[in-house]
Amino acid sequence: MKKTILLFLALFLFQNLAAQTTYILCGKLIDTKSGNIDVEKTILVKENKIIDVMDGYIMPKGATLIDLRDKVVMAGLIDMHVHIEQEFDRNTRLNEYILNEADVAFNSVGFAKTTLLNGFTTVRDLGGTGVNISIRNAIDQGKIPGPRVFTAGQSLATTGGHADPTNGSSRKLIGDPGPKEGVVNSVEDAKKAVRQRYKNGADCIKITATGGVLSVAKSGDNPQFTLEEIKAICDTAKDYGMHVAAHAHGDEGMQRAIIGGVKTIEHGTYMSDVTMELMKKYDAYLVPTITAGKEVEEKAKIAGFYPAIVVPKALAVGPQIQGTFAKAYKKGVGIAFGTDAGVFRHGDNGKEFGFMVEAGMPVMETIQSATITNAMLLKMENEIGQVKKGFFADIIAVNDDPTKNISTMENVVFVMKNGVVYKK
Ligand SMILES: [Zn+2]
Repeated sequence: MKKTILLFLALFLFQNLAAQTTYILCGKLIDTKSGNIDVEKTILVKENKIIDVMDGYIMPKGATLIDLRDKVVMAGLIDMHVHIEQEFDRNTRLNEYILNEADVAFNSVGFAKTTLLNGFTTVRDLGGTGVNISIRNAIDQGKIPGPRVFTAGQSLATTGGHADPTNGSSRKLIGDPGPKEGVVNSVEDAKKAVRQRYKNGADCIKITATGGVLSVAKSGDNPQFTLEEIKAICDTAKDYGMHVAAHAHGDEGMQRAIIGGVKTIEHGTYMSDVTMELMKKYDAYLVPTITAGKEVEEKAKIAGFYPAIVVPKALAVGPQIQGTFAKAYKKGVGIAFGTDAGVFRHGDNGKEFGFMVEAGMPVMETIQSATITNAMLLKMENEIGQVKKGFFADIIAVNDDPTKNISTMENVVFVMKNGVVYKK
């Protein structure tokens, strides 16, 4: 009698578990940690977590099944460099003056959704008007679909620097932006600007350590912060548990950024051999953004697409980026997958994989860069970047084996984030 009751109880519990659990059948499953591609696996998802990964196909009666037996499954991808608020086009300059925050927010809703549906379940947003903080919150609260967002809020620049929000504007509109608006010109300003970002709700800090391509300013590569200012930014950020990302094309500004304590160098265009060694010594990572380099080179050839002052910079910087990445990778510099989406169309982030492979990085390493490396940099290595028991259920699938066809990464066919299916 007792035995029968126990048996019924066990059966009841099993059925209950099966009813609440989603069983994802995976023909192939990429283990981002080992770099192996496993076959015939079942992922068990309950609420927002992966509760188990089992050998073979497990299909309990009445359970919710997701059949990906003809797909290649992997952890959701992480892009360390996007701008979720905008997508660059001919009107971008004008938009700065005619769009209000609400307009920016409505645009971002679409960009966030597109990013997620293309397999990027986590992104780091490296600068906008600050609306990106509200976007992150709206996504976290389930109001809109989108990736998990780590945002820098507004970038920090020096006066006239790459991220000075008033570059090239009529003097009537310029005013005198200060640390509150992200413009710093001293060590004291630097501290205030970082604390202000923290107060505004940023997760990390972005600085523009050198000139850049798309700003209305002459230099694309000159150093734009003193070493002392960068140190003050990095030290202050550390107090608030934030890391610092530095946009940098020129070598001198890059060296100051690395020595000053930044964690990631964005673009890295004119990085010298000495600087590559410095990257390794200081454990800084290169975020390649090759896709953005290709895009600005292409668009600069279309008359009137960019302001005239931008064109020579785009033509000089754009074609260099992939070659520098190839060299840095070969030298052993740590690579953190990141694209600069927003400079090109959101959702095209997956193109970066092909460009990285073309430059000499093995396919599996590009995927590891976009998963475990980035998860580690975001201090989420025990929560995202792997399909593993206890991790968030961020799971995607593609049609082909990427080691045989890398362009399959541009065509993500299944997306689950936090246990919710967004695409199948
Ligand atoms: Zn950027």
